[in-house]
Amino acid sequence: MTLWGHCVIRLFILNESSVSFMKIRILLLLFWLAVSLIGVNAQNKFITVQNPGLYEVQNTVNFPEINGFTALDLFHEEVDNSIWVSPEKKCVSMQLTTDFAQDGSKSILLKWDKITHGCKWIGMGFGWNAWEPKELSLVFDRAAIQFFVKSKKDTLKSLPWAIALEDYSGVQAYTGFSPDFLEGPVMPNQWTKVSIPLTRFPAESYDLDLTLIKQFIIQFEAEGEIYVDNFSIVEIPTEPVLKVMEIEIIDNQDEKEQMKAKSIDANPQDGAEINDRIDKILKSMSIEEKAGQMTQLDLGVIAVGEICQLAYPLQLDEAKLKKAINDYKVGSILNCGCGSGTLELRQWREIVTRIQKEVLKNANKIPVLYGVDAIHGANYTIGATLFPQEIGQAATWNPDLVKKAAEVTAYECRASFIPWNFSPVLDLGRQPLWSRFFETYGEDTYLAKTMGKAAVTGYQGNNLSSPYSVAACGKHFLGYSVPLSGKDRTPAYLSPRDIREYFVPTFREAIQAGLKSVMINSGEISGSPVTADYDILTTLLREELKFEGIAVTDWGDIEYLHTRHKVAPTMREAVKMAIMAGVDMSMVPNNFEFTDLLIDLVKKGEIPESRLDLSVRRILKVKIELGLFENPYPKAEQYPDFGSDKFSTLSYDAAAESITLLKNQKETLPLAAGKKILLCGPAANSLNLLNGAWTHTWQGVDTTFNTKNKKTLKQALTDRVGKENLTYLEAATLTQFSGVSSAFSAAAGQVDYIVVCLGEEPCTEIPGNIKELDLQEAQTQLVKALSGLGKPLIMVTMFNRPRIIREIVPLSDAVLSAYLPGDMGGEAIADILIGKVNPSGKLPFTYPTAAGDILHYDRKSTEDQDPKFGTNAYEPQFDFGYGLSYTSFEYSDLKVDKSSFKKDEKVTVSVKVKNTGTRKGKEVVQLYYKDEFASITPAVKKLCAFSKTELNPGEEKKINFTVSATDFAFVAKNLQLTTEPGAFLLTIGKLSQTIQLLP
Ligand code: BGC
Repeated sequence: MTLWGHCVIRLFILNESSVSFMKIRILLLLFWLAVSLIGVNAQNKFITVQNPGLYEVQNTVNFPEINGFTALDLFHEEVDNSIWVSPEKKCVSMQLTTDFAQDGSKSILLKWDKITHGCKWIGMGFGWNAWEPKELSLVFDRAAIQFFVKSKKDTLKSLPWAIALEDYSGVQAYTGFSPDFLEGPVMPNQWTKVSIPLTRFPAESYDLDLTLIKQFIIQFEAEGEIYVDNFSIVEIPTEPVLKVMEIEIIDNQDEKEQMKAKSIDANPQDGAEINDRIDKILKSMSIEEKAGQMTQLDLGVIAVGEICQLAYPLQLDEAKLKKAINDYKVGSILNCGCGSGTLELRQWREIVTRIQKEVLKNANKIPVLYGVDAIHGANYTIGATLFPQEIGQAATWNPDLVKKAAEVTAYECRASFIPWNFSPVLDLGRQPLWSRFFETYGEDTYLAKTMGKAAVTGYQGNNLSSPYSVAACGKHFLGYSVPLSGKDRTPAYLSPRDIREYFVPTFREAIQAGLKSVMINSGEISGSPVTADYDILTTLLREELKFEGIAVTDWGDIEYLHTRHKVAPTMREAVKMAIMAGVDMSMVPNNFEFTDLLIDLVKKGEIPESRLDLSVRRILKVKIELGLFENPYPKAEQYPDFGSDKFSTLSYDAAAESITLLKNQKETLPLAAGKKILLCGPAANSLNLLNGAWTHTWQGVDTTFNTKNKKTLKQALTDRVGKENLTYLEAATLTQFSGVSSAFSAAAGQVDYIVVCLGEEPCTEIPGNIKELDLQEAQTQLVKALSGLGKPLIMVTMFNRPRIIREIVPLSDAVLSAYLPGDMGGEAIADILIGKVNPSGKLPFTYPTAAGDILHYDRKSTEDQDPKFGTNAYEPQFDFGYGLSYTSFEYSDLKVDKSSFKKDEKVTVSVKVKNTGTRKGKEVVQLYYKDEFASITPAVKKLCAFSKTELNPGEEKKINFTVSATDFAFVAKNLQLTTEPGAFLLTIGKLSQTIQLLP
């Protein structure tokens, strides 16, 4: 059979089943038949057989194209080899020849010349036609591909960069080349064994039929020669311990080289390694590709339908997909498409897989970095585990729980094939009117930075390329959360000192913990939109905080520099401003204008290409670290715990530890067993009100995608106390109450307790803007009316922010703040009500008494004046760190190990805490300090350490804290963190001690 015959046959077994491709196949078959019939020797036209086993490809120009590749098949000895060359049709003069391997077997030499002929890369396939299926009956996780490579010195860097397996049904699994595949040093002209565990192939491999592998393909980039030999798939007993060898080559002129090899740990995150890889990719990228990498689009742009009016169920639009991925080489896609609902796990996997497959058609095959808002769990995947919102997580004062919740979220994001999570929010909740207050870890820098760090380490794990880790995104850098008006994305006014004092610490801590990305504040600070602020995005973020990850804008923010902020007279100027200020990636999100303008700006010399390189490097680095080149989509079977009971239990624990008992007059709670309860209020029977926004949909109101079998408080409480003991009457909606009905009064007459659940419509961002912090009048009226019914009244709140409840707290016998406790919140509240769980949450913010009286616990002395003059300015409804228990705790023996200390010395602070009640309980021991005098007005108190501990009745524990001068630092006028010598008052509970920092 001629070469053409093989070509055509090969085309029939390629992985391509589209109708148009079938047509090409048929045409080629007819062409081959015609050529054969008229006796043209196609082989001679293109191939010169110089001697057996040596072929020279004279010209590939007329070879048939497959998916943009030129394909050429050759029969070579017993192996069926095929060659692909990159679409640059000038690529000529390749040779295939044989060589003898160490064991005497023949190997194949592939020679090509990129420089002369412009051939960018070349691929070679080896088939196993003769293989017995039994040889391949291996366990996927325990199998590896092995082969040998040999190359000359000048081609040492030209190692294979893509390796693929293909089975007979056409399924292909690709992985990028990684140096840890090399077993032993790479030395010029010497064979090196390459071993690639199949687990390093991405998840598409789960479709791969291991018993029917058709061929193995390697693709090389760079000029030169490389020998390959001895392919096999072998069983590996365990994951091999892989080593990378560092090589130093000494050239002694007469082409005899001496090699010295030094073994180093094969760390896939190794900086030099990654940088080499990035250099190589960058070199081959065009300006267009670079601009594409810096572009992030919403999924809606590549879906069927119009933006925000997408077809349901969501489907990818092939033409739009190709435009984004192949024409524009877009680097990132986010979320689930404006206007569309949440997706099934299966849909996510299909979508991400499809996108990443399209990427493989691009020369550089740079995987897409898919990002999602998994704010309190993987909330855009149906059936995922939903945790309390950040404010509730902060109320646990248990960073370990926060870390575990983040680990589960990372697991479930990756199970959805999504490797990037736009979380945690590291803004501070210091403006209670703000619609995103619930998305924060509260008002305090120390608590928020501790929780933020826990979340980042939970999301990212120790190894970002693990199939259970995601890149975290600290947001919104910075100062976003304190708009003066309280309305989302309106101006904040902060001095550079305030920025550093209050808003830098959470980000600094997260960056030091390895944070991989930040999202930029959508708003403006003192007139400067942060998206265009060089001082914040470059001087502060890069130079001062040494952040090396990706800085992505928030939604549409470059365009908003022109249309909303009015600092850029044109969109073109806006792009220039943002990029030159330090933006790496634009969350565009709905068109290609940013990309087109960026390309044009670079081509016209208005933005240097080196500026793009800087950002693209950061983006590529995160993609490499995530292992996306090797695993653009993970193996689906490795996520058996998605939505499992085990994960729900963790969510329950987080909810149970967050719920905060704010009042418990005459020990109204827990509810006595066997008593009758009247449950009412708008939040008593709603899963959505337990979860808040970012739950299945952006605003979280739609109930369509709610997790099956998750219980509202009504359902959970009924399970616990029995139907006969629980009467449920809603009595009021969030906004409407028309008086207590006679049915309600009658029911109240029969019960022992009334539990009223108040809530707030799920909402966030601009749709969540409010004009009043006061609780809606209807709900205030409801509580007032209930309090007249003469029954113990228990108020449970599920608010997005601290709505003012000044008038109704005195009317309630007990008050529980549940924050937004998530899908397991109903069960957790029920268990706290009946006393199965002893509440241990503490407020992560100062609960204001009045809307006009917004203060924070770390207030200045001037805000805390002598009440004798009627100026008692600090009178919160509930204090920061406050929360009751069903037991009582007593503190004693507050001690410091030294009364004075130097800057570099540590001080040990200890205190005894005892459970003096009759129930087991958890207490949060909180250490505060007060800098007595400082050059910047010091706070009345500031948290510097805490520890949550569980105590049995009568049990006492000694808690130790270690602090040093840096824990008492503040940002001085020169913007530097400073601790000035002098006295510091340390307090835990009502106990205090003074220590002196020596000059
Ligand atoms: C929000 C971000 C979010 C982004 C993507 C923006 O409107 O401010 O927090 O990550 O949308 O959904």
